[in-house]
Amino acid sequence: MDKERIPFLDLQAMNVKMEHAFIEGFREILHTGRFINGPQVEEFENAFALFCGTRYAVGVGSGTDAVRFALMAVGVKQGDLVITVPNTFIATSEAISQAGATPIFIDVDERTSNMSPQKLKTYMEENCFKDNVTGETIHMTIGKPVRAIVPVHLYGQTADMDPILETAMQFGVHVVEDACQAHGAKYFSQKKNTWIKAGALGKAAGFSFYPGKNLGAFGEAGAVTTDDKEIAETIKMLRDHGQIKKYFHEMEGYNGRLDTIQASILQIKMNHLEEWNEARRARAENYNELLRDIPGITIPYEPSWSKAVYHLYVIRTKYRDILQGYLNEKGIETGLHYPVPLHQQKAYRSLGYKAGTLPVSEQLAKEIVSLPMFPHLLESQQKRISEVIGEFSLRYTYDKQIVDYKG
Ligand SMILES: *Cc1c(COP(=O)(O)O)cnc(C)c1O
Repeated sequence: MDKERIPFLDLQAMNVKMEHAFIEGFREILHTGRFINGPQVEEFENAFALFCGTRYAVGVGSGTDAVRFALMAVGVKQGDLVITVPNTFIATSEAISQAGATPIFIDVDERTSNMSPQKLKTYMEENCFKDNVTGETIHMTIGKPVRAIVPVHLYGQTADMDPILETAMQFGVHVVEDACQAHGAKYFSQKKNTWIKAGALGKAAGFSFYPGKNLGAFGEAGAVTTDDKEIAETIKMLRDHGQIKKYFHEMEGYNGRLDTIQASILQIKMNHLEEWNEARRARAENYNELLRDIPGITIPYEPSWSKAVYHLYVIRTKYRDILQGYLNEKGIETGLHYPVPLHQQKAYRSLGYKAGTLPVSEQLAKEIVSLPMFPHLLESQQKRISEVIGEFSLRYTYDKQIVDYKG
């Protein structure tokens, strides 16, 4: 038992428990043959909107589609600029590019790893002006309109949204949340004096139901949430070839619908999401207790305004590569989210960001490591992980031999 590998992610146990419900759901669809646009899609959309506290949820083909369609629906078009962060999965910036815009990366907050409201404000005040004739916010050196801001609720914790929304309002720019890692995460809005869920904070939000997410389908799936009827209607057209009704196309759209089978699976799993998120929070709390006092290790920071859902549990250490190798050697799987910030990716070389431009993101990329995290992670597994990390820290701190550790 002691020598068994600890996987980074294991959702088998919880999925298999619901096997009969899934099969029942599939059988229903099999017998009606409505694989596209079956009633299960709308049922799930209603349930998910209710969960997020929004008026609408529109199911789409993936999280990438969700963010892209949300951006298009709030008015992002060819030649626009969209501000986001570099420490995210590339889907965030792909969605921006696919909507026809160019991403602008700004640095993140050192403690939360999320968009820094101060840096956003400073960036916009120093680089943008509001054109009084068109009402657009124009980037001074690029000469193009900044149309939207995309904060990413990274690792399942929301960005500090009040000040981000305030800056957005000041410049008349929409905020689209990338909530792909944050199903059920909560933010305490000082301004509204209440807890608000991810997906209900911006003008619209994109969610992913990629299998490994807190709410995962058995294939590709996503959704957009919004309170805005027009945005919801636009996304319903965008996902379905621009159709307002069958074969009547208001515009060119995409093949970006949510499958009926995936909707049925998501509907069944929805009922457990709250409980799974609670389990993740309990495991994060347990990790915090176990790791807090280990020298050289920084545990995640959860501000008082946040109730994170720990899609990932990410610690920091200066000796990241060595620690990751050490954990692997001891049978503990880990991940890096993400090893290269987007502005330093080959894919974005043409944007011309130089090394050192976004120092916090660049530093974080070198220090982060994601530990195993899933609702059924055992206390005994967490204990073993913390013991191995403690052992590593001790050997590193008092016995420099570990520096040479490379197996
Ligand atoms: C998973 C993810 C996406 C993309 O979702 P897909 O469903 O894989 O298209 C976008 N942004 C972030 C932050 C993600 O984690």
